[in-house]
Amino acid sequence: MDILLFINGEFKKSSDNIVRVSKDPSNGAEVAHYHVASSKDINDAVESAHQAFYDPTWKNMTQEKRADLLLAISEKIKERSKEIVEIEIKDSGSTMRKAKADVHNTAAFFKVMSKVARELVLNEKDEQASRAGFSINYRQYAPIGVCAQVIPWNFPLVMAGWKIGPVLATGCTTVLKTAEETPASAFILAQILKEVGVPNGVVNIITGGADVGRTLISHPKISKVAFTGSTNVGKDILKNVSQNITKSTLELGGKSANIVLNDADLSIAVDGALYAFLYHSGQACDSGTRLLVQEGIFDEFMSLFLKRIKDIKVAPTSDANAGMGPVVSEKQLKTILSYIEKTKSEGGELLYGGKQLIDGDFKNGYFVEPTAFLINQNHTIFKEEIFGPVVGITKFKTTDEAISLANNSHYGLAGAVWSKNHETARELASKLETGTVWINEYHLLNPGMPFGGFKQSGIGREMGKEGIMAYLEVRHLWESDCDDRAKKMWFDALF
Ligand code: NAD
Repeated sequence: MDILLFINGEFKKSSDNIVRVSKDPSNGAEVAHYHVASSKDINDAVESAHQAFYDPTWKNMTQEKRADLLLAISEKIKERSKEIVEIEIKDSGSTMRKAKADVHNTAAFFKVMSKVARELVLNEKDEQASRAGFSINYRQYAPIGVCAQVIPWNFPLVMAGWKIGPVLATGCTTVLKTAEETPASAFILAQILKEVGVPNGVVNIITGGADVGRTLISHPKISKVAFTGSTNVGKDILKNVSQNITKSTLELGGKSANIVLNDADLSIAVDGALYAFLYHSGQACDSGTRLLVQEGIFDEFMSLFLKRIKDIKVAPTSDANAGMGPVVSEKQLKTILSYIEKTKSEGGELLYGGKQLIDGDFKNGYFVEPTAFLINQNHTIFKEEIFGPVVGITKFKTTDEAISLANNSHYGLAGAVWSKNHETARELASKLETGTVWINEYHLLNPGMPFGGFKQSGIGREMGKEGIMAYLEVRHLWESDCDDRAKKMWFDALF
């Protein structure tokens, strides 16, 4: 498969002829050759998005028509789901079940965006602020402009959807850069956008590494940056966008606390805790990687947890029953193994796993055992994001201690509370400094609700009305309800 750049509605080769290979994390086999955007390609993509933004075809398109396009994208994703699932499994190391869920969720997301576009109110009279005989006040919303959107490798199609959906719903245009590890599904998405008739230049999709991302977000014609990735790169982006005061939303890393209270129903809390840190081999930003368990049920919980963890089938992603596949790359594998060694050297008690899987089917892939440590808040893995199948478990006595442990982090992306008493759980949840809290649940998101982080987990939100607002500028329109000069006493300040 050749993955080309999608610029101004056409599929193009890299103008510098830079072509690299993407590999299957399960076995190292070649998946695709992808073209890397040169500086010229990046500039062409931004110019085409800029032209498309001002082109009457897009600028004056009705919200109804935008909504129809979004719905058509949703339908096409469903039509091509088998093909997308197959390529996503190989390109990103997703298990069959995860890839199917991603494709389903992305199609559903575009459908929700279609409804959002149809119902978007772009001109609102404010009755409170308006006063008869004095002024009529409106909030008018306008698309923010040309966006630069940079996404990571863990949920490639979902991330592309979360970025492109609001662009189309609000009348913006974009250049989206995929991660180099996982360019494939966005390429199919580009074909779909072309097929359903998204006007040329409205969405451009390119691939490349950090340099491509940096050049793209720093382009003077970019009005908004939407970035998903690590907190360290988020910091670099903030420095670079300061040059042009480019408005930015950042969805960054996490070290989320998953709190199990004494009265938790262990028939769901144990599986929930495993799902929280092992889904997609722990490569989810909201993973519950700090597991806080109350002392009254600690022993019982741990005995069930260590029994149940053995039921997770770690296997190459060609196995449709794999519960956990590889991690994305050799680089990621090395990072995870070094955190495991560091935790051991810091005195963390290894309860389960801890090793790379290298024999038989695992030979050419990047596999790590599900790994659990008993740790305290001084251990490095209590503080730093690993992005792998590793959990740090900490015992606590009181709910106040749980809150203090949970909030002892510079991250604040997600977290959960497990308890049969929803009132107690809600009370605790309200004290967590984090953007999403689940009660007796984990990982599930709702496109109608905001997702994003407190503290260094990000700036702004995706999804929900907050996510849409990030793609709109607001104009206050002041209309005088007093056209009589004699009543405009404030002019007299001059005369
Ligand atoms: P990363 O930050 O290394 O890279 C993310 C993207 O940014 C890639 O496309 C990369 O090429 C690009 N990039 C790298 N350096 C750049 C720079 N200086 N300027 C512009 N672009 C640059 O992250 P990753 O390793 O791909 O993904 C894992 C990270 O993403 C984790 O920290 C995870 O928590 C985070 N993440 C967050 C969310 C969220 O919604 N909060 C969702 C998914 C992943």
